[in-house]
Amino acid sequence: MKVPFLDFVGPYEELKAELDEAYFRFMRSAWYVLGQEVEAFEREYADYCGARHCVGVGNGLEALHLILRGYGIGAGDEVIVPSNTYIATWLAVSYAEARPVPVEPDPKTFNIDPARIEAAITPRTKAIMPVHLYGQPADMDPIMEVARKRGLKVIEDNAQAQGARYKGRRTGSLGDAAGNSFYPGKNLGALGDAGAVTTNDANLADRIRTLRNYGSKKKYYNDHKGYNSRLDELQAAFLRVKLRRLDEWNERRRGIAARYQAELPNCRLELPAVPAWSEPVWHLFVVRHKDRDRFQQKLSEGGIGTLIHYPVPPHLSGAYADMKSAKGSLPIAEDIAASVLSLPIGPHLTPAQAEAVVEQVHKAV
Ligand SMILES: *Cc1c(COP(=O)(O)O)cnc(C)c1O
Repeated sequence: MKVPFLDFVGPYEELKAELDEAYFRFMRSAWYVLGQEVEAFEREYADYCGARHCVGVGNGLEALHLILRGYGIGAGDEVIVPSNTYIATWLAVSYAEARPVPVEPDPKTFNIDPARIEAAITPRTKAIMPVHLYGQPADMDPIMEVARKRGLKVIEDNAQAQGARYKGRRTGSLGDAAGNSFYPGKNLGALGDAGAVTTNDANLADRIRTLRNYGSKKKYYNDHKGYNSRLDELQAAFLRVKLRRLDEWNERRRGIAARYQAELPNCRLELPAVPAWSEPVWHLFVVRHKDRDRFQQKLSEGGIGTLIHYPVPPHLSGAYADMKSAKGSLPIAEDIAASVLSLPIGPHLTPAQAEAVVEQVHKAV
């Protein structure tokens, strides 16, 4: 049996009637940018996260970038980021002309280690940007405590964790603001690029509403050097349909994760750890193996599609060659990059496919 890493056909088949209805509603409205669909989605997604405000923007990278701009963080400033993340977290900081300062993760949870943050703070530090990586919330309480003590903003990168809970509260409402991505492969995925900022900070929400639309509140009156980063009406209409399914689809991911945790071998394989306060949404199911490349090859021969998230840590990527980071300078991130492998997981993975994954992993391990 072939098990693809991701399935984009299942979601459309399940939601066809509702997505088609959303499309025709959009076509009949003949209103393409910043209209009723975006407004309605912003309300619904803010409610879902338990945040007071949501501002729809073009994508997740721009959500993070606009938050930094909205807080006036830019050239000469530093922002603390995880050493182990998708590079977009760092790129958002660079895009705002600030400097990303990496902090190593807890190797068990893959998320930024709060105990290491304080040592990375300098007089130029303005914010901490924790990532809820692979769908598991970062340990927010100690992060907020350091931030409050040192007068820093906390900006969640909630690209991978829509619906996850930390001590009972949803991600996207835990820090000062959060950048959300609705890239098609995310747990709440649009059918193209899309993103949003969630926050309880009314002033920030207002600034981002202006910045996303040419720095203009009133048409042709431009108060700031803004951008064009607006959530598309059609994508908002699709996202409203998919948001109604998010909890149910995350629940299906949990079912598969529970099965993997119970049935995969844990001798040569390190399975994901879940702290007691964490309710992850399993954007990815990431295991570690000492001989990862061979393990991946054998799974591929057994028909199982896998991916590596991520093979090159940002500090060693070409994009950050200017930082002149030596190999070995962030050993935990480098060790993770060398050993992680993501197994197929998703709301449309069938029990037979999950069974095939378990069987092939036992053979390949
Ligand atoms: C996907 C992702 C982003 C960027 O989102 P886009 O919508 O693709 O711009 C940022 N951070 C993380 C951790 C991501 O996984």
